[in-house]
Amino acid sequence: MNSNSYLTRKCPICKNDAKHKIEISSLRKGESLDYESLVPYWNGFFKEKIFFSYARCSDCSLLYAPVFYQESELSELYGQMAPNMDLVPMDALIKTQRGYFKRLQKFSSLEGGYIEVGPDIGIFTKNCSRDGKFNKYWLCEPNKAVAGKLASTVDGHPHQIIEDMFGFAMIPNNSSSVAVMIQVLDHLLDPVATLNELRGKLVPGAKLLLVTHNEQSLLRKVVGWRWPAFCLQHPQIYSPRSITALLEKSGYSVDSIERSTNYFEFGFLLKHLLWAFGIKINSIPTIFNFTIGLKLGNIITIATPR
Ligand SMILES: [Zn+2]
Repeated sequence: MNSNSYLTRKCPICKNDAKHKIEISSLRKGESLDYESLVPYWNGFFKEKIFFSYARCSDCSLLYAPVFYQESELSELYGQMAPNMDLVPMDALIKTQRGYFKRLQKFSSLEGGYIEVGPDIGIFTKNCSRDGKFNKYWLCEPNKAVAGKLASTVDGHPHQIIEDMFGFAMIPNNSSSVAVMIQVLDHLLDPVATLNELRGKLVPGAKLLLVTHNEQSLLRKVVGWRWPAFCLQHPQIYSPRSITALLEKSGYSVDSIERSTNYFEFGFLLKHLLWAFGIKINSIPTIFNFTIGLKLGNIITIATPR
């Protein structure tokens, strides 16, 4: 394959010829390398940082890559990748997702059907089965290796694991009162199509919970082009303004957008920050092994289908 194999994209929200201006690039640009040469950079936080340049849409303000991988290339790349949950210590993940759940609890009575896209081992799902009253769980998770663990999190409640991230066709229409997508939406080539299809599965008054990166966050401004969310896996990155535009376009009204608290093992965070700035140390003294909660670069959005 050569660089011509990449997709040329219009703004995935506006889908028109709205003007866009390149705003963020890596030193060597993703679009300047062909597919094969770019493969080693796909997983590579600890290598040279290369991503497809991001432009800003003049209509909806979305930051998106006008040149990006096509669907078949993405399937191949995700297929050879280790599950990303292994990167972050488990205690920190559990605390972070508990916070997301508390947010959902404010907006939903937690009953009826439940859909989660990409639940992985079910850290968020477990909160719902323990503290919610859902009568059926549809869990779209292609990773067969986690299926056993995921099934155990619903604690005997009726459930179906759908081995296709977007296998919504297997879910009955008007069946669910909650849908959850944590760190999924930044990865989609056509988020409007996905959200539209998902809307058909929801009952009136249902709640959609989304967790995404926020390209208008302070962290992003401090770190600049080295911000970890600028990477080969994200064809676009949202802000409160652009995610509102996305949801409006896909037939939802936004209830709330908040900065989310993410918990980190401090040593882990410190190591990654140092690496991001080119200071390559391999171990951090154990005195830094404590967990801290930070409102960093993520937002949690709650929306209702119109
Ligand atoms: Zn746009």
